[in-house]
Amino acid sequence: MAKVARRANEVKGLTATQRQVAEARCAEAGERLTPARLTAYAELLSSNRPLSAYELIARLEKREKRKIAPLTVYRHLDFLIRVGLVHRLESKQTYLPCDHPEHAHESQYLLCSSCGRADELESKQLVNLLDKLTDQQGFVPVNSVVEVTGLCSECKQLTAD
Ligand SMILES: [Zn+2]
Ligand SMILES: [Zn+2]
Repeated sequence: MAKVARRANEVKGLTATQRQVAEARCAEAGERLTPARLTAYAELLSSNRPLSAYELIARLEKREKRKIAPLTVYRHLDFLIRVGLVHRLESKQTYLPCDHPEHAHESQYLLCSSCGRADELESKQLVNLLDKLTDQQGFVPVNSVVEVTGLCSECKQLTAD
């Protein structure tokens, strides 16, 4: 196989498109996408399941071959959530990249308790309904979390056999 020369600023685990979207979202938010923030994002993207902050720290330390202060990683995560590239699963205290980071949105999750996969939903209808219901109560929502645990369609198939 031919050896492909890597661009000096290329980040492992991140496609050119993912990088462009990430840069666009940061620019929109008036924030700077530093190499360290980008690396944390790439590490979340390269995982096939949501990661806890400590799992992410361990993976970053392995990648960078050095110790990284937990607080630094928590700051990266706060940043990535703020600009809309990453979501936090409140019920699991884990983090995962957004499935459609091109635009701002509120998301909902279906969490499989068997294989650990997290499928992101983006239902404007549900968001509108929650807005209406909270409004009727005179309630001012700050953060609404919709996370449904259960079995994904693949795991459901497996248990049916
Ligand atoms: Zn999302
Ligand atoms: Zn599953």
